Amino acid sequence: MKEVITIRDKQFELFIEQEIIEQGIKRIAGRINSDLKGKDPIFLAVLNGAFMFAGELMKEVSIPSEITFVRLASYHGTSTTNRVQEVLGLNESIEGRSVVIVEDIVDSGNTMVALKKELEKYHPREVKVATLLFKPAALRQKLPIDYVALEIPNDFIVGYGLDYDGYGRNLKDIYKVK
Ligand code: 5GP
Ligand code: MG
Repeated sequence: MKEVITIRDKQFELFIEQEIIEQGIKRIAGRINSDLKGKDPIFLAVLNGAFMFAGELMKEVSIPSEITFVRLASYHGTSTTNRVQEVLGLNESIEGRSVVIVEDIVDSGNTMVALKKELEKYHPREVKVATLLFKPAALRQKLPIDYVALEIPNDFIVGYGLDYDGYGRNLKDIYKVK
């Protein structure tokens, strides 16, 4: 594995190795297996960024469950601060279900707050959040995050599903901008 890589105009340095990432994922999968046992949860993985995390997480989930993949289209509501997230590709009914959002990263928390609000319209039993990465210093919302695989400082990172300008999602380790 290379210590420093270049993606388009930026250099990135190795930050979190695959083994550490996967330990974090195993840890939260264990908690999900006990917390949601008997609840028949449906996982909602947010594309594109969560694809690799979702794959690894689901290999460690051992309780009966479903997974589906959604995409968010954000547009601005009538006021500029009122960001709306339209959920595309949700064909399954989540009414009365335990839903686990599977997200790549929670930064300001704006996306997650908007998504949870949108999902409440379908009357799920509960909505939990599982994120691969969390930047506590960047959080601007009051948001309970149920499952965090890794907490990181406020740096821009790529790899393990996360991109810079569309590239780097395939990296099996996480890199941070130099
Ligand atoms: P929010 O600020 O709403 O919590 O996060 C919005 C989105 O910003 C995330 O879903 C993710 O797509 C993107 N994002 C935030 N921090 C990073 C980062 O360090 N690297 C990458 N690649 N995307 C990020
Ligand atoms: Mg995202």
